[in-house]
Amino acid sequence: GDLGPEQEGLVIAHFGVQVDVEVLEGEDRGQVRRCHRRANLPALVTGDRVVWRADNQQSGVIVALQPRRTELYRPDHRGQLKPVAANVDRLVIVFAPLPQPHRNLIDRYLVAAEQAGLEPLLVLNKADLLAQPEHAQIRGWLDDYAALGYRTLCLSADSGNGLDQLREELRGHVNVFVGQSGVGKSSLINALLPDADLRVGALSEMTGKGTHTTTTARLFHFPAGGDLIDSPGIREFGLTHISHADLLEGFIEFRPFLGHCRFRDCQHVHEPGCALLDAVASGAISAGRMESYRHIRGSLTED
Ligand code: GDP
Ligand code: ZN
Repeated sequence: GDLGPEQEGLVIAHFGVQVDVEVLEGEDRGQVRRCHRRANLPALVTGDRVVWRADNQQSGVIVALQPRRTELYRPDHRGQLKPVAANVDRLVIVFAPLPQPHRNLIDRYLVAAEQAGLEPLLVLNKADLLAQPEHAQIRGWLDDYAALGYRTLCLSADSGNGLDQLREELRGHVNVFVGQSGVGKSSLINALLPDADLRVGALSEMTGKGTHTTTTARLFHFPAGGDLIDSPGIREFGLTHISHADLLEGFIEFRPFLGHCRFRDCQHVHEPGCALLDAVASGAISAGRMESYRHIRGSLTED
């Protein structure tokens, strides 16, 4: 049949060859259309900006993909990296006094953020537990990251303290939440998306029959502004595929020292004339971050 005029759209979910597109202009603004893509287009992912044309009341055809500002990748079942979300610009790294945080995990997320071109926001949740002496030191970690130039927030999903600042930070960005299981990501997202129908997990997917269920990444609008892309898989972003070069670059305070070691193939472990080790000795790089770097370096399979 006839196609309507070209319109701007936003992919809010993808299911194989079909995607759900939010209408961004005109009378139907805010409504969702199930669309197919033209065969000449690459696979589309949640967060993509597209041009589409309506083919009837309910559905449409995607005719163009706008350039992506960023891409998030995940390995597929064959281990090949596939994009899973586009145009994310903010990585919200959540940690808490409990479960006990691991610096090298937080640092790994920071490296992934640098590599993907996302601005990290470090969120220390469960601030209500910081009064307990055994947890007091965790607050210092947040201060260390702030001193490196990162955005940081200390808050509590339970008490609601600090949530307004979080809403402020998320506004104007496409956000992804990551962090160890149990740190409070779901609690925070549920507090930010009070409409229960919008929550991940509450969705019984609106797919046709029996194809894909809820594992696809979905895009949500926070009532206070800003978007969230979320799925169980997206929450594991950053835990795979780091190269040694990306790792070094991802420790932002290491950058001024890179390339200044005496040996070109310096491993920054115990070599004489190592610029990074000298920087640790002089206090320009913290021993904790260097230890974290070594820990992650030791876990890499490549190089
Ligand atoms: P997720 O695995 O990261 O999604 O974590 P959840 O949101 O499921 O939270 C894990 C547990 O931490 C739950 O029992 C929450 O009630 C609890 N929790 C979440 N936020 C807070 C908080 O601010 N303070 C405290 N004390 N507990 C919290
Ligand atoms: Zn070195």
